[in-house]
Amino acid sequence: MKVAIISDIHSNLEALQTVIKDIKKRRIKRIFCLGDLVGYGANPNECIELCMREAKSMVAGNHDWAAIGKTDISVFNPVAAEAIRWTKKSISKNNFNKLSKLKLTETIEGILLVHASPQKPEQWDYLFALDEFKRQFEFFKSQVCFVGHSHIPSAVFQDANGYTDFLGDNLFPLIDNRKYIINIGSVGQPRDLDPRASYAIYDGNNKSIEIVRLNYNIPLAQQKIIDAGLPEVLAERLLAGR
Ligand code: ZN
Repeated sequence: MKVAIISDIHSNLEALQTVIKDIKKRRIKRIFCLGDLVGYGANPNECIELCMREAKSMVAGNHDWAAIGKTDISVFNPVAAEAIRWTKKSISKNNFNKLSKLKLTETIEGILLVHASPQKPEQWDYLFALDEFKRQFEFFKSQVCFVGHSHIPSAVFQDANGYTDFLGDNLFPLIDNRKYIINIGSVGQPRDLDPRASYAIYDGNNKSIEIVRLNYNIPLAQQKIIDAGLPEVLAERLLAGR
């Protein structure tokens, strides 16, 4: 079985549609989503509805919780907070209710899905450095844990002796006796200086994971952000990939 995993859509409908089209072209039937459907971009309702329709399983991100008042936005940077205030006003009651039903973690098909970290999902910690990844492994039992949140694709493994390291490639086999934490990157606001939308394909039969990058209509997503009156820097960063 193959599963596509998407995360950090951030109300970017152009990027989301491109990713879903690619997933369908590859005849992958199932999609799991790691949250942050909203925040930053101009199409929160459309993105919630499309994700909820397409994804079989989904967990909440910090921006989803912020949009429904479950997370305090005083810790958000001013631009992110402004986008959340705009999102709160823009989402429908129905979509608000959908966001409020999302859980923080889900284990499905032996895979752990969590937006930020397995250790304390509700704290929205970021995993960047190897040490930050390393201390997470004792907090999940499955072989693979998928995370989002940093918007930077990366893969870390730990072997049976506790040796932990990054994997460099975008396509790699899953080796028995190793556990993995995979950050699948962001659909709607990549931050690794590559503006292309990012998502992952998990192949349970061949035991492999691939990170896929796709070009999408960035100018249209940017124009919508500006037309919505959202901070212009949110449009600029889409092209910069940061
Ligand atoms: Zn995010």
